[in-house]
Amino acid sequence: MFHSMLPLTNHSLSHWKHTSPSLLPASRSICQPRTRQGTSLAKPETHRAAAMLRYPSDTMPSGTDPKFLLDSSFAKESGLAPRQVYRNLPPAQLYELALAFEPGTHITSTGALATLSGEKMGRSPKDKRVVRDPDTEKDLWWGPYSPNYVMDDRTFLTNRERAIDYLNTLDRIFVVDAFVNWDPASRLKIRVVTSRAYHALFMHNMLIRPTAEELENFGEPDFVIYNAGAFPANKYTNFMTSQTSIDLSLKHKEMVILGTMYAGEMKKGVFTLMHYMMPMQGKLSLHSGCNMGAAGDVTLFFGLSGTGKTTLSADPKRPLIGDDEHVWCDTGVFNIEGGCYAKCIGLKQETEPEIWNAIRFGTVLENVDYDPLTRVVDYESQKLTENTRASYPIDYIANAHIPCVGGHPKNVILLACDAFGVLPPVSKLSLEQAMYHFISGYTAKVAGTEVGVKEPSATFSACFGSAFLMLHPYKYATMLAEKMEAHGTHAWLVNTGWTGGKYGVGKRMSLKHTRAIIDAIHSGELEKAEYVSTPIFGLQVPVAISGVPTDILSPENVWSNKDAFAATLNKLGHMFVNNFECFSDGDSFVGGEMAARILTGGPTPLPEDEVSKTGFSGLAAAAPAAVKA
Ligand code: ATP
Ligand code: MN
Repeated sequence: MFHSMLPLTNHSLSHWKHTSPSLLPASRSICQPRTRQGTSLAKPETHRAAAMLRYPSDTMPSGTDPKFLLDSSFAKESGLAPRQVYRNLPPAQLYELALAFEPGTHITSTGALATLSGEKMGRSPKDKRVVRDPDTEKDLWWGPYSPNYVMDDRTFLTNRERAIDYLNTLDRIFVVDAFVNWDPASRLKIRVVTSRAYHALFMHNMLIRPTAEELENFGEPDFVIYNAGAFPANKYTNFMTSQTSIDLSLKHKEMVILGTMYAGEMKKGVFTLMHYMMPMQGKLSLHSGCNMGAAGDVTLFFGLSGTGKTTLSADPKRPLIGDDEHVWCDTGVFNIEGGCYAKCIGLKQETEPEIWNAIRFGTVLENVDYDPLTRVVDYESQKLTENTRASYPIDYIANAHIPCVGGHPKNVILLACDAFGVLPPVSKLSLEQAMYHFISGYTAKVAGTEVGVKEPSATFSACFGSAFLMLHPYKYATMLAEKMEAHGTHAWLVNTGWTGGKYGVGKRMSLKHTRAIIDAIHSGELEKAEYVSTPIFGLQVPVAISGVPTDILSPENVWSNKDAFAATLNKLGHMFVNNFECFSDGDSFVGGEMAARILTGGPTPLPEDEVSKTGFSGLAAAAPAAVKA
């Protein structure tokens, strides 16, 4: 699959000798204490000898001749002048280099590469910058609620130069040339340039891996990521507010990363780019999971973190197309990526066997805690972060559907973990409601580590991924509705959160019942069901579903205090309405008529004091007429 097994060149051998031996873990642990005792073991030659022992010359990683870069127009334009380039090294060699040169890297008991991302162990959305330039500025969404914090071209070039200068100081850099987008007509060539073997392995897993022939004929990339995350941004540079900066230039088709080594920035950087490039071609990029039934029927799963995308899209009856990033185009859906990046906090073999079994040789484990002796990972531990992650190629999932493409979705499922316990376990959405709830991107978390204070708090993230949007949310929602209408797609809102009362009173919906609901969507049972309309939100709720207790389907039935239900539901309605004020500039992107149409999909809450007087009966009386489904 790889063509990088070139014979060892003099260049790489002589280079290797100049590698700083003090970075080698073996020399650190064995030789340094003796230095202090005045023995001769710590002499540099000894370290070098130790390094040679670790890598006898015939097994040393064989970097690609840097000429491949230096002769290219890419190198001329970038200013990159590396001493040693390792291009598309296979995982085994990336393991060796990571273990040798990246402190805190180890092999776990199941063969994964456990590594550390440094201080940043999650994304830094506030440090993301997008260059505002004349060719694209009119298309992009700017303003206080947009995730696109502005920067100018000159500052981008300043940061880019800083990144390249840093990379040019290193003994070795890594290049990964690979693809995104499984649809051949949409495929793009991505080049990642990075200082760390761990990043190279991560992107080898997350991108679509080229064959030896494709790599040979790769040519110039469509997009380049310069990851100099080991080196900080200068916070006194214009537009910078910290030492971390993740900068995207659509004009240069480049991304520069400074001051964070968290690998997810590269993955989501490419995703952000797709949120611009794909819609410009009439293709809709989506933050969703995706699976496919035996009959070829495709389902998209949207939802914020912890709502069940991964859990519910991993279905033994339905092959997985992807767990996170997809595009819906004229021929159907395709996965953007070639791998998965799974959360692993609390991972258990019994509940998530697919992910558990994927954590083996080749998998990158980021910031996990493990036994220092046995290297057995403790997935319960939050010692470094709660955001522990595993990155592996999608073919490590046994029932992955490869190539990761499918037909037009028959169903889209919007997941919300409603900790207020007022949304029905499942409801059928009209096109307007689908747009409205897609734009809202609602879930409710149980906030508070403070003792005793555990109130649910609502979270809204536009299009279920506001951090990655480049255009106004209305643009994506309108495209979604157009595609749904054209292909007869059904939309469902599924509450995987609380039933029988809010958090603290009720309990989390049983996974068994949620799975029965998803099965009923897939079997077609819910298409034929009889529906009733809910107050405030005007949602269509089925009156019966096989395998699900009928009384839970309308949440008020299982609240012991109906007036409290009414007040909570109404309060949630107000939160939705308030959140939607962020999008009041939407008409300039989709026109006034469409903007007004989207709003009709939202709730119509009543004044709070009115509900506190009339209680549930007042709410029921004010229920809107049944929404046409
Ligand atoms: P992320 O975007 O962070 O990857 P995600 O949407 O993929 O998040 P999951 O990893 O699937 O979220 O997390 C859902 C969690 O909630 C799982 O641990 C699952 O076991 C638990 N859970 C409990 N009850 C339910 C339910 N009724 N439906 C879905 N998940 C449930
Ligand atoms: Mn997930």
